[in-house]
Amino acid sequence: METVVSGIRSTGKLHLGNFYGAVKNFVQMQNEYNCYFFIADYHSLTTHPNPEDLHGHVKQVLVEYLAAGIDPEKATIYVQSDVPEIAELYLYLNMNAYLGELERSTSFKDKVRSQPDNVNAGLLTYPVLMAADILIHRAIKVPVGKDQEQHLEMSRTFANRFNRLYHTDYFPEPFAFNFTKNLIKVPGLDGKGKMGKSEGEANAVYLSDEPEVIRKKVMRSLSDGGPTHENQQKPEPIQNLFDLMKIVSSADTYNHFDTQYNQCSIRYGDFKKQLAEDMIIATAPIREKINEIAKDETYLRQVARFGAIKARESASKTILEVRKIIGFKSF
Ligand code: AMP
Repeated sequence: METVVSGIRSTGKLHLGNFYGAVKNFVQMQNEYNCYFFIADYHSLTTHPNPEDLHGHVKQVLVEYLAAGIDPEKATIYVQSDVPEIAELYLYLNMNAYLGELERSTSFKDKVRSQPDNVNAGLLTYPVLMAADILIHRAIKVPVGKDQEQHLEMSRTFANRFNRLYHTDYFPEPFAFNFTKNLIKVPGLDGKGKMGKSEGEANAVYLSDEPEVIRKKVMRSLSDGGPTHENQQKPEPIQNLFDLMKIVSSADTYNHFDTQYNQCSIRYGDFKKQLAEDMIIATAPIREKINEIAKDETYLRQVARFGAIKARESASKTILEVRKIIGFKSF
């Protein structure tokens, strides 16, 4: 059975981008593959979270994974920092990751722009840690959003470089995956770019948002005065709302509003109302489970402990073999 790995940074609640780019695929993949899904708390340290908040954020993602339908009996769910073998592999891979290629990564350049006062080495080597996350289980499929495509390419580079250096074929090449064939980029509500946690509260719709909150966010999303001539190209904020509708609504609903737009008869109020209702329908089953699961500390502890054991089993096997390949020997 093919092995699959993916994770989400524990920096807060999951939004529709996390869900459609990643978690929805996790739920489907767990029935067909040998799956490892983790909560990326090592990765979250690049932005220096308060120690008092760290565990709560990890718990939040664990709860939302379970609420979304990831089944700990089918997939291995674990917290990244429960598997220190990942940090060891990260160290080895760092020896073959070059400054130039890390500096050229788009996500690093974005971070340098967005947080110029905290350009730490963890940010620079983020793609190496991501490669370690994947290669530690020798996974070949990685369900992620479009924003991670370049990181996956870097993971392949690090895997191949390790293989070449040590004359082995130990690491397989991992590829990004989405059931929709094309990787997904879920746009935000603020008219530009992707949905993300760091783009401000109004930009993202969270799985845990109450219906009223979703309605408010969508109704307030950026739009314009409406089309002025038939079949005109949609400006970015409008295109983004249509892209969101394509993801959460039925094809009929999408085509209905698309036709109205092309005929200049669209009323944005109706369009946004429908989009909000379809988002509410898509997230309702998850939202309803979040609070219930969050209360069950015993269950959460069981899931995390069971997952850590299974993940370490696989990770320690890899590390043992990697140490041998590199040439470490004990006296
Ligand atoms: P992050 O929140 O950056 O840890 O991302 C976790 C996962 O969610 C990754 O697989 C991302 O590719 C995916 N993701 C985050 N934002 C989006 C988005 N706006 N569209 C699609 N996928 C996303």
